[in-house]
Amino acid sequence: MRYVGSVYRPPSEARSLIVQVTYGCSHNTCAFCSMYKEKRFAVRPLEEVLADFREARRLYPRVEKIFLADGDALVRKAGELETILDTVRELFPECGRVTCYASPDSVKLRTDGELQTLRAKGLTMVYMGLESGCDAVLEKMQKGHDVAFIVEMGKKIRRNGIALSVTAITGLGGPALLEEHAVETAAAFSAMDPEFIGMLTLMVEPGTPLFDWVRDGSFKLLTPAEDLRETRLLVEHLDSPGSVFRMNHASNYLALRGTLNGDRDAMLAAIDRAAADLSLLRPEEWRGL
Ligand code: SF4
Repeated sequence: MRYVGSVYRPPSEARSLIVQVTYGCSHNTCAFCSMYKEKRFAVRPLEEVLADFREARRLYPRVEKIFLADGDALVRKAGELETILDTVRELFPECGRVTCYASPDSVKLRTDGELQTLRAKGLTMVYMGLESGCDAVLEKMQKGHDVAFIVEMGKKIRRNGIALSVTAITGLGGPALLEEHAVETAAAFSAMDPEFIGMLTLMVEPGTPLFDWVRDGSFKLLTPAEDLRETRLLVEHLDSPGSVFRMNHASNYLALRGTLNGDRDAMLAAIDRAAADLSLLRPEEWRGL
């Protein structure tokens, strides 16, 4: 198994076989993100990808979940993705789930028919970053898309039968856009009604524009209490029946989990308990990415 640079995966892929089918992120300019700064985006040669799968088959007796890394696997040509999925099915008949990250741009590239074929060949879920449902926040953070486009691409994934997991980041609007960020992010999630909603909490990574903005004072971070207020507003405004809401990442001050809309009140009560006793929050020095 050969890996180039640091490899990232969603928390729920901790036990997955991870194979890079692309390197890096095709966008790579979000102001808060340092993940793939060390490498240029590239499509990995198909033969190398297939060779890694063959080697994994020799190494691992049982592989139930596979994550196709890096940042934007769906950007590969549909025919090559089909070859990868066919190979996975042939080599790992026991594998019940294949997932990848996808950018809104790569979802746009794929036709409905291509997405349906990928689903039929075993692509079960894609992870997409919304980051914020507020256009002013997305623009400031150089996301490269507006909210309407990301929501449209999320709906496209779902209508073609592929499950969708979408993430956003608390604190991304700072105190200035706290309310808009919370309420409009809830609206964007609700419009997509994804299978999974994941919330990260903003971390400031060296080497990013955000790091410089925080240092020069042009971007203010939320306090933990403000972050809780924003989270409460977000949860209060979510209307996404059946979506599993997860806020259990190492970056989060407060761990929350529930299925919407039924568990919304219980999650609000947990937020209120933490707001009344901030010692229930993860200490700043324990937070991480
Ligand atoms: S947040 Fe996602 S899209 Fe933005 S640079 Fe990082 S990996 Fe790429």
